[in-house]
Amino acid sequence: MVHLSEVRKLKKQIVMVTQSLYQRGLITAWGGNVSARIEGEDKCWITPSGVFKRDLKPAYLVKIDFEGNVVEGLYKPSIEVPFHTEVYKRRPDVNAVVHAHNPIIMGLGNAGVKIKPVNIEAATLGEVPIIPFALPGTKKLAQIIGDNIGNHKAMIMKNHGVVAVGKNLIDAMSIVNNLENISLTMLTSHLFGNLGEMSPEDFEAVKKM
Ligand SMILES: [Zn+2]
Repeated sequence: MVHLSEVRKLKKQIVMVTQSLYQRGLITAWGGNVSARIEGEDKCWITPSGVFKRDLKPAYLVKIDFEGNVVEGLYKPSIEVPFHTEVYKRRPDVNAVVHAHNPIIMGLGNAGVKIKPVNIEAATLGEVPIIPFALPGTKKLAQIIGDNIGNHKAMIMKNHGVVAVGKNLIDAMSIVNNLENISLTMLTSHLFGNLGEMSPEDFEAVKKM
């Protein structure tokens, strides 16, 4: 049984993460969603659908089980429930899932350009697969994400956005931020004609840190 103060803390953190990414333009008014696993239960809290992200409050969050049933909450859960639950079922180490609509990394993903080791963050992220498009909210999208998540920290969804997973909400949020920072660095150095990638030795050394 999860203590009430823990529930409050978790719900507040979901709102903080959603609004922080909204302010940075990575989650849009309607696009993007955030969830967090409830410790010891096959359930999570997830952002609602149809609520303007800027106005999100802890009371609007929806508790769902991993079959997608609403357990608690007044609003409809995000349409992306299928892929959030799919990730939790496949990855017991994951306690938070963040889906955002990062514009710059999506541009890279659409062009088929993978993340290159251009900075320390890129080295710590490991491989980030680019997955094919499927309609939002569908079982097909959940299947593609589930089949590709492996041990990855993030995926780029072609023509749609990104999914990042973490041991907690801050972890998953920082991956979403890092993805955009890395792609901005790549874009800038590409404009100047040289990606300036790290040497394989430095890359491996940073990865081990
Ligand atoms: Zn989306």
